[in-house]
Amino acid sequence: MRPDVVELLRERGIQPSAQRVAVAQYILFTDEHPSADRVWACVRSRFPMISRATVYNTLNLFAEKGLVRDLHLSPESVVFDANTGAHHHFIDEETGRIYDIPWEKAAMRKLPKVEGFEIRDYQVVMRGRKAPARQKRTSGKERNQRA
Ligand SMILES: [Zn+2]
Repeated sequence: MRPDVVELLRERGIQPSAQRVAVAQYILFTDEHPSADRVWACVRSRFPMISRATVYNTLNLFAEKGLVRDLHLSPESVVFDANTGAHHHFIDEETGRIYDIPWEKAAMRKLPKVEGFEIRDYQVVMRGRKAPARQKRTSGKERNQRA
């Protein structure tokens, strides 16, 4: 069962207005990493009166309170992620879809030093395209015959 969204908002000190609950009900249960406009489009289908500004402000509030993370994966796009634990991302360049990659799958052995700064957080962002369909595997026997 889904956790009570109203309770989740209260735990973070967020006043659970109907509009915030509507945004939370979408953003907290998708693994899509949507942009604010995408969130607006989805929430609006059920709450036609919700404004773009409200959705933007709500998402920024959620990020500020640690309920979601805002990811700046490219200069022109910010997306929101309800998975606030440490993990990496893979971006499908064809569809723009963002996938979560478990933290331990791309561990860095040693972080570089950045002069004058303390590193607080990092993640690996991988980009790629769908691999071409694999050729049918040839058995060892066939390979030997060809050689
Ligand atoms: Zn993620």
